[in-house]
Amino acid sequence: MQNRVLVLDNQRQPLMPCHPARARMLLREGKAAVFRRFPFTIIVKERAGGDVQPVRVKCDPGSKTTGMALVAEFARRRPTVAWAAELTHRGETFRGALRQRAACRRSRRNRKTRYRAPRFDNRKRSEGWLPPSLRHRVDTTMTWIGRLRRLAPVSALSQELVRFDMQAMQNPEISGIEHQQGTLAGYEVREYLLEKWGRKCAYCGAKDVPLEIDHIHPKSRGGSDRVSNLTLACHDCNQTKGNRDVGEFLAKRPERLAAILAKAKTPLNDAAAINSTRWALYNRIKATGLPVETGSGGRTKYNRSQQRYPKAHWIDAACVGHSGSAVRLDAGMRPLLMEATGHGERQRARVDKLGFPIAHKRAGKSFRGFRTGDLVRCRKPDLPDFIGRLAIRFRPWFVVSRSDRKIEVHPKDLVVVQKGDGYAYA
Ligand SMILES: [Zn+2]
Repeated sequence: MQNRVLVLDNQRQPLMPCHPARARMLLREGKAAVFRRFPFTIIVKERAGGDVQPVRVKCDPGSKTTGMALVAEFARRRPTVAWAAELTHRGETFRGALRQRAACRRSRRNRKTRYRAPRFDNRKRSEGWLPPSLRHRVDTTMTWIGRLRRLAPVSALSQELVRFDMQAMQNPEISGIEHQQGTLAGYEVREYLLEKWGRKCAYCGAKDVPLEIDHIHPKSRGGSDRVSNLTLACHDCNQTKGNRDVGEFLAKRPERLAAILAKAKTPLNDAAAINSTRWALYNRIKATGLPVETGSGGRTKYNRSQQRYPKAHWIDAACVGHSGSAVRLDAGMRPLLMEATGHGERQRARVDKLGFPIAHKRAGKSFRGFRTGDLVRCRKPDLPDFIGRLAIRFRPWFVVSRSDRKIEVHPKDLVVVQKGDGYAYA
């Protein structure tokens, strides 16, 4: 199944998303027109209003990619993923850009105002301030939640908020709990341990390897099932340790032994479960006024593996929270890939590597009605239906690039398919 087509009525109010075949039929018969290319949305010409089922927007916020899914919640059928997308953020590009700006300003201050006394301690950060790279993730996710609310009859939202659920584990360091793979508590415990031990092997520090849960004092020698007796080890360390006690295993590395024993006893605080970006996103989502469901990362993984779905950002999004425990999706479905590209930059002066201005850009951003970032179709007879992203120049000779090819075209041969909206689609 493909992503469903989003539908608006003739008052631009959202209707239920429809099957692409139905959308094709409506378009062919002239009963609907294309409203937006990405995400593909049609507007029906004669209908105003109609029955809608509740639709839930679900998102799994990530540092590089956020998964999003629109889930139709039918009364009698299982909830079904109607539309999915993966949103790629560009937060990491901000750091470099801001550093470059700071360097330019410092250079200018040194050149132009050499004797001005330094000012300091005159900056203030408002409450809830987030670094720009993190705020960007919240902002772009909210942009898409807002757009989806305009294009689909969204009535509820779900978000993965915490990595693990302390409540579900009931004070993990004290009560011994079932942590076997395959139970919800097991997934929560695993996420808890990943956070506690920093996602690396406690014995050798190996990162980015599959980690196994290891009993510090082995069960066969009376070790308990409490989380304070569990750690994460890579396969090799786990095998080498076998059923030996940790004191025996690390007899030659007393510092490591002491560190592990001390860490094992210290419980994580509640704050470790949540990060500030997700919390900020949650507050923004809550401000929409729609009912919000939150879930933990452990619950997401549990839901996904119970339903035997492969790992993907959009599938994780569909599996978030309690509503993700039974959700119908086609694992072969292709999500819309959206990449934040921004709307250009404000910097008008090009500088050399020492920060000296070498050229100035035009104040305007458009030329002959076109802007960089617009999606355009080329009408030249030798290039029928070449659709790509436009980069303007301030003369009538533009560049249109597609994933495989780049061409130079005169604007008279171009038609805008969709105005640039700060995202690239694939
Ligand atoms: Zn190891």
